[in-house]
Amino acid sequence: MSNPSLGPGPHTKIRRLPAKADYNEDVIYAILDEARFCHVAGTVDGLAMALPTLHAREGRTLYLHGNKSNAILNAVLDAGRACVSVTLYDGLRLARSGFESSIAYRSVVVVGPTRPIEEEVEKARVLNLFLDAVLSGRASEVRPMSEQEVRLTLVVALVIDEASAKVSRGPTEDFVEDMDLPIWSGTVPARLSFGEPVPSRDGAMASGDVPLPESVRRLLEQQ
Ligand SMILES: Cc1cc2nc3c(=O)[nH]c(=O)nc-3n(C[C@H](O)[C@H](O)[C@H](O)COP(=O)(O)OP(=O)(O)OC[C@H]3O[C@@H](n4cnc5c(N)ncnc54)[C@H](O)[C@@H]3O)c2cc1C
Repeated sequence: MSNPSLGPGPHTKIRRLPAKADYNEDVIYAILDEARFCHVAGTVDGLAMALPTLHAREGRTLYLHGNKSNAILNAVLDAGRACVSVTLYDGLRLARSGFESSIAYRSVVVVGPTRPIEEEVEKARVLNLFLDAVLSGRASEVRPMSEQEVRLTLVVALVIDEASAKVSRGPTEDFVEDMDLPIWSGTVPARLSFGEPVPSRDGAMASGDVPLPESVRRLLEQQ
């Protein structure tokens, strides 16, 4: 039976507000999969840097990709380990004081060893995972990737050694002495939404005869 907990590990023990901690892999995977992008951290020329980028998860492996010369991806490959974080913004938590005011969020930090995916068939397969992570079903709608496109892309696999989730939600926790102040307090939920698709007007699209793909239809229906 697989272990449902991915932490806490040496780098992922939540000390500050531990009541918000969750190490369950289902919780962590759900946040990773819902997140539209991640931040990958690495040391570039002696400076700790964090770069926003796309990710795709398959089981316990998180994939990152970029140009062959991508500085931070090469840095995390050189280091042999990386830390990746994602955040879902769930809204406002407005307290009667600024001190207790915050936001609702679900965030994840993962740490693990990195390796490049070099075998080209495997690399092409993983690159399709990114397409489907961005828009479910899109990989089967676009033209197949060329060998040149696959060669130009660096794909990094990070096996999740340890991970933490932190979930902040619910009403604010005002100080008792603030409770009777006539100041509005409460929460304002937020969510990502997609607008009306804007078709391209060049090439075959200029005719206006190319139908909206199934992937986009589904995306709009599901929200
Ligand atoms: C959108 C957003 C905004 C935030 N704004 C603030 C802010 O303005 N000020 C502030 O102090 N904090 C903020 N936080 C919380 C912040 O991420 C840290 O949890 C907090 O600062 C405590 O840091 P620490 O190093 O003392 O935590 P520790 O608990 O000591 O961190 C130890 C380990 O716990 C895990 N961990 C810590 N934070 C998170 C997290 N958010 N998600 C998943 N795992 C985590 C990591 O594995 C980390 O290595 C924010 C979080 C989010 C998602």
